[in-house]
Amino acid sequence: MADRVSECCVTSAWGPDSATLVVEGELTATTTDLLEGAVLACLRVNPHTVAVDLARVDFMDAAGIAALLDCRSRAAMQQARLVVIHPNRTLTHLMRPEVRALLAVPPTADRAGRRELPCIACGATTEHVPGPTTRGADGEVLVQWWSCTACDEGNTVVD
Ligand SMILES: [Zn+2]
Repeated sequence: MADRVSECCVTSAWGPDSATLVVEGELTATTTDLLEGAVLACLRVNPHTVAVDLARVDFMDAAGIAALLDCRSRAAMQQARLVVIHPNRTLTHLMRPEVRALLAVPPTADRAGRRELPCIACGATTEHVPGPTTRGADGEVLVQWWSCTACDEGNTVVD
């Protein structure tokens, strides 16, 4: 199945109980219908998971993000999980941390052990490196703290 308009293309591939929708091009107000149509078509078959692959998407705007969240809600109504896979760094940055969490987008690629995390002290999402650990009585690591590289006081934990 392939639907085409000039700037976007969505193709689907099926696994045992999951579907992968590969989006190619731009995800904007003019192309979100394609994505939504493809997701709805997938959901008719009751997959366990619908993965939206954004590896070939080079541009996405707020409408694109809203459409992904909308599709996620529709999937959730059918007890299906919608996840976003392979967004490039630019797309990942466009998504707010809570949006990434909803869409199961992993934290920005752990470049040399670094992660983009929200820093309360900075009031912004900044680069963090592994910091101190809190250990239990038996030496097991209970909490791995991540330290903000943009300030001295920001320490946070990764869920
Ligand atoms: Zn900070």
